[in-house]
Amino acid sequence: MKTDYGTICVGGGAAGLYFASLVPDCLLLEKTDRVGSKLLLTGGGMCNFTHEGEPYEIVEHYYDRKLFASPSIYNHPPKDIIRRFEELGVPSFTREDGCVFPRSRKAEDVVNALKGACSEIRTNSAPVSIRKVDGRFVVRTKDAVYTCDNVVLATGGDTWPETGSTGDAASYVKIFGNRVTSLRPGLCQLRLKDRIKNVEGVTVNDLNFTLDGKHYCGSVLFTRIGITGPVVLNASRNVGKTSRIAIHFTDIRRSEIKTLPQSKVVSNAITERTGLPESIVKSLVLPIAYDKRIAQLTKEEIAKIHEQLTNYRTSVSTWGEGKKGMVTCGGVDTVGLNSKTLQSKTTPGFYAIGECVDVDGECGGYNLTFAFASAYTAAQSILKGRS
Ligand SMILES: Cc1cc2nc3c(=O)[nH]c(=O)nc-3n(C[C@H](O)[C@H](O)[C@H](O)COP(=O)(O)OP(=O)(O)OC[C@H]3O[C@@H](n4cnc5c(N)ncnc54)[C@H](O)[C@@H]3O)c2cc1C
Repeated sequence: MKTDYGTICVGGGAAGLYFASLVPDCLLLEKTDRVGSKLLLTGGGMCNFTHEGEPYEIVEHYYDRKLFASPSIYNHPPKDIIRRFEELGVPSFTREDGCVFPRSRKAEDVVNALKGACSEIRTNSAPVSIRKVDGRFVVRTKDAVYTCDNVVLATGGDTWPETGSTGDAASYVKIFGNRVTSLRPGLCQLRLKDRIKNVEGVTVNDLNFTLDGKHYCGSVLFTRIGITGPVVLNASRNVGKTSRIAIHFTDIRRSEIKTLPQSKVVSNAITERTGLPESIVKSLVLPIAYDKRIAQLTKEEIAKIHEQLTNYRTSVSTWGEGKKGMVTCGGVDTVGLNSKTLQSKTTPGFYAIGECVDVDGECGGYNLTFAFASAYTAAQSILKGRS
């Protein structure tokens, strides 16, 4: 069995597969019995693998890590990712909103194409230790000892652990002088403490809400425990232990409620005036004015109804949703990595790519874009070093 390689890549997810597909003499070690498990789940099984746009537009979607992500995105922008997949036999199409998918709409095709381009993959193989000895790396798994010039860490985050991503980066990087920032879920639904009852599955378009004082607007889907939808997912990374949300369902004025058709049942009159889904209005209004007509409302009831409709306030958390975040925020500290190569500043030859790095992007293909672009950038650095 061959045990000496140019490069060993640890983790056979999106980033690791992309990397290994570009670098000859690379051994890809995957902890589970199959590669690309999380990739198969992406985009509802259709794999939204990048987002159309120029690099300067794309980098805006990485929150406070846009500076670090920039060199990778400029180096390997979406148009190059699209071209790379075309070369691998995966043509794509771009949806109206800019999200790019394989034309077959099958994440499986993306995984198979990348897998087919890798030189060597060993599954059920997780390093138990990685050391640097006399300028080369020694990587031990439970049944082999490998040596190599470069190690590329691509172990992902710690959400959806059933896919194999269990936050393993920390145990490997410490010895090389790199640290891992604390991990927390991103792109997950929000649990409302005072949930709005009987509205599961209802969507409100262009809904305004304020999370800890920051304003958001977009399409929001109500769930059994709270809310979701692209705007909610993108906001979720900012939720802390004491976060509060205020939902502004409508901008109706308090004085206007009294002037609605007097003989109408309150919930019907408000549904007609606001255009909000009936179930939402009922859930907000019935506890205050069950069966009442507009003419029967007291001043206090009008004030309470107005507050519910225009400023519905409650505590919010990602509690219990943590492991269901579509991305992990936090990871290998970018301070210790060279953003132009993804190489450790303290240990030449040691790289970290993809979601195991402290970079997370918004919903819409940005996380896979970074996984692929960072993989390409590290690959280029290693290939240049060889020439
Ligand atoms: C449900 C869902 C839907 C998503 N949809 C999209 C989408 O449409 N578009 C988008 O851009 N992003 C999407 N994402 C996010 C995207 O999947 C990730 O950002 C991306 O997969 C990260 O790639 P990665 O290779 O860094 O990590 P991963 O894909 O998580 O891969 C890490 C790999 O490393 C392996 N591994 C872990 N530890 C070890 C170890 N010690 N030794 C060896 N191997 C190890 C794991 O088993 C795994 O195979 C989605 C995520 C989820 C959960």
